Order: sequence, then structure tokens, then C-alpha cells
Amino acid sequence: MEVLYILIFLFIYYVIRILLNIYKQPKCINLNYKFEKKKKIPISVNFHFTRKCNYECGFCFHTAKSSDIPTIENSKRALRKLSESGMKKINFAGGEPFLYPKYLAELMDFCKNELKLESVSIISNGSKIKRTWLQKNRDNLDILAISCDSFDEETNIKIGRGSGQHVKNLYEIAEWCHQLGIKFKLNTVVNAFNWEENMNEHIEILAPFRWKCFQVLILENENGGFDGTLRDARRFKISTEQFEAFVERHKTQKSIVKEPNNIMKNSYLILDEYLRFLNCTNDEKVPSDSLLDVDVDTALQQAGWDESAFFQRQGIYNWSKLPNNGCTGVNDSKKFDW
Ligand code: SF4
Repeated sequence: MEVLYILIFLFIYYVIRILLNIYKQPKCINLNYKFEKKKKIPISVNFHFTRKCNYECGFCFHTAKSSDIPTIENSKRALRKLSESGMKKINFAGGEPFLYPKYLAELMDFCKNELKLESVSIISNGSKIKRTWLQKNRDNLDILAISCDSFDEETNIKIGRGSGQHVKNLYEIAEWCHQLGIKFKLNTVVNAFNWEENMNEHIEILAPFRWKCFQVLILENENGGFDGTLRDARRFKISTEQFEAFVERHKTQKSIVKEPNNIMKNSYLILDEYLRFLNCTNDEKVPSDSLLDVDVDTALQQAGWDESAFFQRQGIYNWSKLPNNGCTGVNDSKKFDW
């Protein structure tokens, strides 16, 4: 009799286990489905509000196809929408953003003090920056990034970066940033004219907190040299091996962040002068609908943004100059609820 009870008990036990497993299975599938469908968050956006520039870099991939800039009201409207959708960092880019210093200052003030963004940054060629402007607006600026591709002015002139004052300007601005408590960053486009250069000495003196090294990128309808493009960057092109040789030569620089073409192309959210995301997935820039006309989710779906490449290139880093300002720190995406 006791044996019978044990057998009945075991039978019931296994039936319950089988039923529980069957019950668990669809739940698991359902969770995966939810994960796949989860919304993208425009955590970090590059706002190219102007295409106009006073330089003529031969490889420029955001050329002056229009001289339009959005009205300040439209820019604020789009920025507010992005902030409500989870944007934490804005980078003002161009063209050359310092061609419009008042406009830039007003948007920075809006982003920092009204939208309370964690980080406001600018990428500039450095030729139009005044110390007085930096001093006045420093509280609203976390990072100032300057482009420099060579410390030899002859190479800069060949590239189209200015007429011989670029390195002098760069040193001056780096000094101002260190004096005014603005994080100083450096961007370098590695190309056929500079890939053999040794920049170590200068990088050590300038001490950028982050040094981005991009492999020169060709986008058909911007710098591909075809009909309607304003640049032909094909003569600047380098191989992956040449790019890696440049990175290897500078590997002792702690600030270096390398971006080969495959990581760079789709990992940036680029917002243009008509408040549209630009989709670079097919080696060209295809605009989304404008944020003035559609919601952020709809525009994001058309943006071709590769979130995983964004993380792979360390898109989240220590981007706020104030401590304890909600800044995430390098690769610490766990604090975000996505
Ligand atoms: S400074 Fe920048 S925006 Fe101006 S031409 Fe050069 S790459 Fe283009």
C-alpha cells in the first residue's frame, strides 16, 4: 500500500512539473518579443543646424548644400520633443556652428537650463571661437571638440583646413578650455595625407579628455565625387591597414577612441537643418520626415540608426563636466531604463 502511495505521489509531482514547463514556455517567448519591439531612445543626438562653413576640407561629408538654418523656435520644438523621448546629450555641429554664435548660445542655454540635458557639446573647426564667448557661455557647455588632422600646417592647407593658423588656434582653445573648466576634445580624420604622421607629442601637451580618430568616410551623395556632390574625397581614402597603423602608432594615448568606417557610418544620430534624421545606411544621406511633422518614434524608424554600433563605439561616456549630474560613465548603460 505504501508503495502505491509513493507511486501516486511521484506521478502527481511529474505531471505538475510538466504542466509548469508548458506554462512557462509562452511567457518566455512573449518576453523576447517585447524585447525586440522595445522603442529606441535618442540618447545622444548630433544637431547639424547649419551646413555652411568657412573651411573647405576636401573630405567634408556634410557639405554646404543649403545655407538654411532652422528658426530658433523650430529648433527648440524639435529639441524638446527629443528630450521628452530620452535624449541626454546634444552635440551642436555643422558646417561651422560658430558662424552663428548668438543662435548657438541661445540653444545651449535652452538645452542646459530648460531641458536640463546632462551634456551639451560643440564640434568646431576652431577658427571663429572667441575667449569672451566661451567665458560667457561656459556654464552651458560641457565639451568643446576641435577638429585637427595634422600638426603640419602644409598638410592642413592641402586638406583644406584653413590657411596656416589652425594649430595655433587649436593650442589657444585647448588652453582656454583648461582655464575655464570646459572639457576639451579632439577629433582627427585619418586620411591619405596624415596617416603616417606621429602626433604623440602634441596630444600629450594638449591633453584632450577624448581623442576621436575617424577613418575618412566616403558618402556617395556628399563627398563621393558624383554629379551633384560638392566634394570628391576619393583621393583621401585609406585602407583599414593604414588606419590601424595610425592607431597602433598612438596606442599609448589613453584618450584615443578609434572609429573605422564600419563603426562610424550608422552609429550617429544626425539631425539636419530641416530637423530630419539622416539615414546613412546605403552610403548616402537619406532624410527622414521632419520632427516638426512627425513624432520622434516615427522619425527614428527612418533614421537607420544602429544602436549596437553606438554602444560599440563607446557612445556613452563621461560626458558631463559636473560630478553627480546624472552622467552615466563609460559603458555604464545599466542606469538607463531601456
Ligand atoms: S571644418 Fe568640418 S564642416 Fe567645415 S569643411 Fe571641414 S569638415 Fe566640413
